Amino acid sequence: MSVSRTAKIISGKIIADQIRSELIVEIEALRRKNVTPGLAVVLVGENPASQVYVRNKRKTCAELGLHSFDVDLPADVTERRLLASIDKLNRDPKVHGILVQMPLPKHLHEQKVLNAILPEKDVDGFHPVNAGKLLIGEPGFAPCTAAGCQELLLRSGYDPAGKHVVIVGRSNIVGKPLAALLMQKAAGANATVTVCHSRTRHLAALTRQADILVAAIGIPEFITGRMIKDKAVVIDVGINRIDDPTRASGTRLVGDVHFAQALKKARAITPVPGGVGLMTVIMLMRNTVSAAKQQTSR
Ligand code: NAD
Repeated sequence: MSVSRTAKIISGKIIADQIRSELIVEIEALRRKNVTPGLAVVLVGENPASQVYVRNKRKTCAELGLHSFDVDLPADVTERRLLASIDKLNRDPKVHGILVQMPLPKHLHEQKVLNAILPEKDVDGFHPVNAGKLLIGEPGFAPCTAAGCQELLLRSGYDPAGKHVVIVGRSNIVGKPLAALLMQKAAGANATVTVCHSRTRHLAALTRQADILVAAIGIPEFITGRMIKDKAVVIDVGINRIDDPTRASGTRLVGDVHFAQALKKARAITPVPGGVGLMTVIMLMRNTVSAAKQQTSR
């Protein structure tokens, strides 16, 4: 007789709230030294998704009592003007962290813009110096979504040490940095990592080997139940808006994992929304507080 079971839900809200409480203590300690961590969020143009992300980041800064420096530039801003804004923020001692919201309009060279941010203020962790430090296991800033996935695993009791982690997706913001984080010879890491991508052959045969499966693909419900090993831990990074005529809005958010099917196979899974997405913003706050500490302790 088969017994139906349901995976445990790993709540991004509960874990992000824990980190938020820890940050409040650290921010208070900095305040006693007359330091208020400051984050500059640079938004170019009016991409609606970017506007939502930026609003969220600025709102979380305000809730935690961080200084938020808002730089809003028109979609047709020249590269020269954008680089001049970053240079000004680099030199402002009240600004400890700088984030340029991606994607940028086509005429701007994204990596050139990211390279202009001082590595010690690069709280998104996209500067080549921080990417290099992450790979060789030196302290630096790790990209927030990848760091958030690692925190979700550790704080819900699924230490990746010795486990086979299969990551589907090799982007510079999620897949690659998460692979670098989890393969380190370090506490909270020590995993055996396989990275899959659009050219991977026999994908399902690989995902079915995962003790921990991470989906960062950008295709709604791409990972089906048959691609998941029995009792695997599943981290769903995907955020996709799909049509849903049953909702008043006509749409709803889903991840890159078929949630209903995964529930029946996995040991634990992150929901969408309410999973990784909530971690990204709080990890950005944590990086900003660390940047403020480093820059004011010299
Ligand atoms: P991306 O488009 O840069 O990368 C997608 C990756 O998926 C690529 O490496 C590609 O090789 C791989 N891929 C595409 N089709 C595939 C296939 N058929 N088989 C195997 N691999 C395939 O995306 P990204 O920026 O890494 O984002 C991935 C998802 O995560 C998106 O849904 C995005 O919205 C979401 N995301 C969420 C957060 C968060 O805070 N939760 C942050 C960043 C991105």
